[in-house]
Amino acid sequence: MPISPTIVWFRQDLRLRDHPALLAAVRRGGPVVPVYIWDEEGEGKWAPGAASRWWLHQSLVALADSLNQRGSRLVVRRGRSQTELSALIDETGAGAVYWNRRYEPAVRRRDAVIKQALGEAGVEARSFNGALLHEPHEISNKQGGPFQVFTPFWRHCLTREVAAPGGRVPTFPAEPGTWPPAREIAELNLLPVRDWAKGLGKAWVPGEAGAGRALQWFVRESMDDYSVKRDFPADQCTSRLSPHLHFGEISPRRIWAEVAKSGESQGVFPPSQGAQVFLKEVGWREFAHHLLYHFEYTPEQPLRAEWTSFPWREDGGRLLEAWQRGQTGYPIVDAGMRELWATGGMHNRVRMVVASFLVKHLRLPWQRGAAWFWDTLVDADLASNTMGWQWSAGCGADAAPYFRIFAPVLQGRKFDGGGAYVRRWVPELDRLPAKYLHAPWEAPAAVLKSAEVELDLTYPRPIVGHAEARAEALAAYAELRNQRHD
Ligand code: FAD
Repeated sequence: MPISPTIVWFRQDLRLRDHPALLAAVRRGGPVVPVYIWDEEGEGKWAPGAASRWWLHQSLVALADSLNQRGSRLVVRRGRSQTELSALIDETGAGAVYWNRRYEPAVRRRDAVIKQALGEAGVEARSFNGALLHEPHEISNKQGGPFQVFTPFWRHCLTREVAAPGGRVPTFPAEPGTWPPAREIAELNLLPVRDWAKGLGKAWVPGEAGAGRALQWFVRESMDDYSVKRDFPADQCTSRLSPHLHFGEISPRRIWAEVAKSGESQGVFPPSQGAQVFLKEVGWREFAHHLLYHFEYTPEQPLRAEWTSFPWREDGGRLLEAWQRGQTGYPIVDAGMRELWATGGMHNRVRMVVASFLVKHLRLPWQRGAAWFWDTLVDADLASNTMGWQWSAGCGADAAPYFRIFAPVLQGRKFDGGGAYVRRWVPELDRLPAKYLHAPWEAPAAVLKSAEVELDLTYPRPIVGHAEARAEALAAYAELRNQRHD
């Protein structure tokens, strides 16, 4: 009796290497039908934003090419996942559906319903871990609950073995008798109408091959210096793997294994201080997933309930717009926001600075910043974005205390002392000497003139003063604390 086809449902695992669901499907025998379903409704409130859609388009094209090269195909569909999967089962006679797990609350709920329905229909439904080193349900603290502080979380993770990555699919078994109808990727309309896609295309190479090259480059050229240089945005020494990880073009297990391999000859793991710090950052991604899994409400609500009544500024549309456009008058903030708009990415240090500026200097709710990042980041990830914003706002797990307020000028001077980063993204300040670059309003008139900077005309003055904004933020924080003690 021939083995029935297996549908492999691709989601945020757009790769062929170390793909547990695909490897299991090949082991099951019988034809494999690789499927991608564009199901916006199934994502709940968090359908991918514009920059993510651009990435997804490119990544699907790359995956479809790789499958074609191996004599297979990517069957692209649009609609509700459950409906499309049942149709595909009818069309192919599939007896099994395999996929790798995701952890966003709406997606988990949807997947659970689908798993149950498939089981009731007599179709084998199996899911696998393809996205994390350690899944959230496997990790708990001594009391059996979720961790809320990173250091013990990571210490605990380090006591556990990381599974070795699976290899590439050797060959695809037989083709299905007939391929089910499929859409063109272009029909999903994922590409933006706005022309910023050009900038994204220059900055990134989406797809599994691009991810592999980014990892190789990082491990060979940059990893050993990572612990020293990672906070300096102009150095570009970080791995730039985050969108690849988000879309599952590379697995964290493979990253772990490649880092380990790089130190094999010395017989040490991790092979350097840089490698250790880098793996810890990958650990922050794990922690973000742990938090999202256990505290489902956090994309919309603060983790710590007392923060619900924080006195955020109520109006502030003009301030938000200045922040989004990189027109705040603080060069390091503006450089970051413009880098984001131009490339869909932003260095982590600068993300912390711009986020702090939004929630503390402008006192705008972190959710508004998170929403903007969601739309404009190519690595927008519900777990990491939520954690990053709640950390910055002081209301999340292991958060930066609210009263510690980043001074944007000092941050600029410390992490972009020579000014290369600001000069790149705020070219109208290019000719200012480094001494004044992070605070152009402090420059004498003659210096501004010779640098061709006219405040308010070619570059704005600060939209809020640092000292007043700091005082107002601290007063708002005091109000919150008083409410707690009432
Ligand atoms: P590297 O420094 O090379 O780190 C390696 C990998 O570790 C990254 O690719 C990423 O997957 C993970 N990582 C590193 N730092 C963090 C961190 N702080 N939190 C979680 N994972 C981390 N990251 C996202 O992937 N998606 C987001 O939507 C996102 N939003 C953020 C919002 C704010 C306000 C802040 C402060 C941080 C956010 N981050 C987010 C985390 C971090 O900024 C990016 O992961 C990092 O800049 C990616 O660059 P890289 O790949 O070169 O990182």
